[in-house]
This record gives sequence, C-alpha cells and structure tokens, in this order.
Amino acid sequence: MTDTLPASSSLIQILSGLDRLIYPSDCLLCERRFDRNDSLSVCPDCRNQLAHEPFATCPRCAGTIGPFVDTTDGCPSCAKESLHFESVIRFGPYDGKLRDAILRAKQLSGEILAETIGRLWVARDRDRFDRLSIDAIVPIPLHWVRRIERGYNQSAALADAIGQALGLRVGQGWLRRIKPTPKQYTQSASARRENIKGAFRASIRCRARGLRIMIVDDVMTTGATASEAARVLKAAGAAQVHAAVLARR
Ligand SMILES: [Zn+2]
Ligand SMILES: [Zn+2]
Repeated sequence: MTDTLPASSSLIQILSGLDRLIYPSDCLLCERRFDRNDSLSVCPDCRNQLAHEPFATCPRCAGTIGPFVDTTDGCPSCAKESLHFESVIRFGPYDGKLRDAILRAKQLSGEILAETIGRLWVARDRDRFDRLSIDAIVPIPLHWVRRIERGYNQSAALADAIGQALGLRVGQGWLRRIKPTPKQYTQSASARRENIKGAFRASIRCRARGLRIMIVDDVMTTGATASEAARVLKAAGAAQVHAAVLARR
C-alpha cells in the first residue's frame, strides 16, 4: 500500500502535463492561468507589456532616440557607421518583459513563445511591415553547433511566424553561418565587426536576386551581424535589405 501514493501522484502529474499539452492555457511568461480566446500562449497582461514601445526610434538603426533628434542620416550613434541594410524596425527595447521573453525563447521548447511574439508583433505593426514592401524574409542563422546546443533557432521560428502572418515567403536556409562567432554582446563594437566578417554565406538555395529582403533576428546590439548578413544578401543580388529585430540593446 505504501507505494500507491507516489504512483497515483505521479499519475496526476502525468495527467496534468497532458492537460497542459491539450489545453495549454497557462501564460508562457507569467505562468498564470488565463481564458484563451485565440491560439496565442501569452496572457493579455503580458501581451500589453510585451507590445509596449515607450520610445521613438531611429529608422536607420532602431536605437532609442530623444524627441527632437534629426534622423535624416541616422541618429548620433549610427550616423558615422557604414551599415549594409536600409533600415531597422524593432518590437521594443531590450528591457523588462520583452527581455524576459527573449531569454525564455532561447531555451529548448521556446519555439511556441518565439512564434507567439512574432504574431503579436505583426498584429501591432502590420502597417509598418507593409510599408517596407518586402518580397521575402530571411532569418539570421545560427552556426550548426549553436543550433544543436539550443535545439532550434529562435530567429527562424520568429521569421516563420512573421512570414505566415504577412503572407510572405521565408527563405529558411538562404543564408548559412559558416563561422562560429563568440557571443557578440561580450565584445567591443570593433571586435564584433571583425568577428562577424565572413561569418555568412549565401547558400545554393538562396533566391534573393532582385528582391527586397527583410532579415529577422532576436536582438540587435551594434548592428554588425545584421549588416554583414545584408552585405552577403546584396552580393547574392538582393535589391534591398531591411532588418526586423525583436529588441534593440
Ligand atoms: Zn502572462
Ligand atoms: Zn541610428
């Protein structure tokens, strides 16, 4: 009799796990139960916090800017940089709930969260995406070693969700990361630019020629990674490259 209690409690655990799989109505961010009336896995409160963009941003680098900054040639922090993309849009600053969501999405099983954020972003900014007249979306790839470590590429999941919501082709595999690079945020700006040089190659599947491409990544720090990806896509014939990043540091 003594072993029936553990057995039944583990059965309860299994059943509640199944329940979550079938009716996953706990918010993926705050873990509170909420009434679902759509297929998004984040509660209304967390959605509002995620989609809250309190700042004006630079159209060239998506950095936070003050109210009266002239951005004709970029903001003070990007005006002197040579960047290979045309523009950057962001979902928000790398802070608060959005930062929390990005860190969670990097974990194994973060795929549903990455997709949910992508759909929330399109719901908020559809007009801005439409104005870019994009032909195809290309996620920033991970090096295969990093992808195996993490189990999936969150930028690829994000690109799929955005592409589906906008009805655009997603060029998965158009870019390859052929060089493992150290974690960029621990490096100085000039070291980042140096490290990322030659990190990407356009694959044989790349169909970017003549197209307006939007590259998608989770976090942008200096823009060196997105700029190098844009350079490679333009060398492969892309007419324009814009970047969409979930968060800008
Ligand atoms: Zn929540
Ligand atoms: Zn700027």
